[in-house]
Amino acid sequence: MGLIVQKYGGTSVGDTERIQAVAQRVHQTALAGHSVIVVVSAMGKSTDVLVKLADGITSNPSRREMDMLLSTGEQVTIALLSMALHERGQAAISLTGAQVGIITEAEHTRARILEICTERIERHLDEGKVIVVAGFQGTSGGTGSRLGDDLEITTLGRGGSDTSAVALAAAMQAERCEIYTDVPGILTADPRIVPDARLMDEITCDEMLELASLGASVLHPRAVEIARNYGIPLVVRSSWTDQPGTLVTGPMPQPRALEGLEIAHPVDAVEFDADQAKVALLRVPDRPGVAARLFGELADQSLNVDLVIQSIHEGNSNDIAFTVRSHVLDQAESVAEHIAPILRSQPNATDEAEVQSSGKIAKISIAGAGMIGRPGVAAGMFSALAAANVNIQMIATSEVKVSCTVAQSDCDRAIATLCEHFDVSSSPARIERTQLDLSSLPSVRGAALDLDQSQLAIRYVPDEPGLAAKIFQILADRGISVDMIIQSQRSRPCQGQMTRDIACTVAQADAELAKDILRAAAAELNCGEVTVEHAIAKVSIVGIGMIHRPGIAAAMFKALSAANINIRMIATSEIKISCVVAQDNGVQALKVVHAAFDLAAAIEVPV
Ligand code: ADP
Ligand code: ASP
Ligand code: MG
Repeated sequence: MGLIVQKYGGTSVGDTERIQAVAQRVHQTALAGHSVIVVVSAMGKSTDVLVKLADGITSNPSRREMDMLLSTGEQVTIALLSMALHERGQAAISLTGAQVGIITEAEHTRARILEICTERIERHLDEGKVIVVAGFQGTSGGTGSRLGDDLEITTLGRGGSDTSAVALAAAMQAERCEIYTDVPGILTADPRIVPDARLMDEITCDEMLELASLGASVLHPRAVEIARNYGIPLVVRSSWTDQPGTLVTGPMPQPRALEGLEIAHPVDAVEFDADQAKVALLRVPDRPGVAARLFGELADQSLNVDLVIQSIHEGNSNDIAFTVRSHVLDQAESVAEHIAPILRSQPNATDEAEVQSSGKIAKISIAGAGMIGRPGVAAGMFSALAAANVNIQMIATSEVKVSCTVAQSDCDRAIATLCEHFDVSSSPARIERTQLDLSSLPSVRGAALDLDQSQLAIRYVPDEPGLAAKIFQILADRGISVDMIIQSQRSRPCQGQMTRDIACTVAQADAELAKDILRAAAAELNCGEVTVEHAIAKVSIVGIGMIHRPGIAAAMFKALSAANINIRMIATSEIKISCVVAQDNGVQALKVVHAAFDLAAAIEVPV
């Protein structure tokens, strides 16, 4: 029988009783004839307790010392679990990240795994021992390492034990990786917010990657990325029961070297659709129901929209833009033309609602799970396009994809530039996911809420190639990842030049720094004011089944409108739709969206 990697999260090892229960399960797995590697988190909330201790000393701790501090939490658990296994007569040895050979980059508090030296693991497994590994940590440098500098303890970022586990499973070619936690598996939403969320039997890696990045904290997105890239069967289950939990499924991956585990090839493919058209509805009233109305009518005519973008607004009006395939441009345009006068005649109307449309645009995307948390990748795309003198019209981002619309005549040049820049040989036209029968999949698999983001707005950005590149490169250079990036549709003259506004969301913890950096750079970039708004929430729906199915965006906007929730920004990718709303509306927004797609369980899943 093969090797199984099991990972137990904080609550699952929250006290000595729980550690005994974990030891029991591990022992049984070993008795059944499996080799076992166990990865554990710090007990209960002890990582949070350590963070608070540091807070009591300084508001600006060194990231190296934070790693030194936080890595101690897991070390407690490995020793106790090994003892509990010894008590049962099970041979076991505890190892820290460094001892087990998890080599990372020298980026404290958010290190990526470069490789895992497996000799020591193999030796102890041959001795019949269960290996108990401290999750969330690794080592960089050290004599004898190819990096050659001082040995350092690094951590992978909060929630990173999942990533340690899946990386070990990949390095050891384990039969499967089991993530044991305090819920029965992956649910259609966080059961702590939506008590009637339904347990899923399975979910695809692509969907889980989006959900995990959009706030479903049950899995660390980087763990899903590794499982997807290396084809590791991944299961999420309760550590309290024997229920099967949720299987995260993926297509057979291309063979991949283990070297540079988390850093090789951030971009897997450059994709394009050279046959799109764009419709923008400018200066529509900023109040609930407008997006619902527009997309409701498009859905009634079975028009499938691809990208949807609503940018930040000025005054009391919004701009909404979407793309469709070009053969339905006329139809989509007449829906928008029909709605514009109705919006103009309503209370608070700006009297200016206007439709703009353009055919002959191309959507170019870079795709790859390796871009998660690597701010330089999107910036690299924008710079490469700018260097090729390609102007970017719209930008739509997800954690694993960045799409830009450009003029159709720039399409070939853009593809060639991006393939070269990211060292990608394939450029598949408009992916049709032929491996999956989309009609058999639910159009929405799950919903998520992210309350940890802030919104940055940069006004009056000159509308010329290279500006987006510069802005996001400046943030990337300081290690700040941006999430939704939205460029306004409306352009306005300012000091004799056409300008647009750009908005993005960043982690709340990075927001003030990002604002200061951009303010400092604004003069040089010739941009206007930079503002930050903390009280936002992002609610998202995810499902591969929404590709080619009209009406999904409409149903989400309608649910928010029926609850009188105003949508501030919209960003989509092929398999997700995200809306930014006021933070106070976040929880209710998640609930109403979850209910709108019939995701509830017949009976509440106990948590
Ligand atoms: P662990 O300590 O085991 O790693 P986490 O707290 O990191 O546990 O992850 C489990 C938690 O994730 C659950 O308690 C639940 O509140 C939260 N969660 C968020 N979204 C989801 C979801 N879609 N399905 C299941 N759990 C979710
Ligand atoms: N203990 C770490 C944390 O709380 C890592 C983990 O549990 O995955 O973030
Ligand atoms: Mg976790």
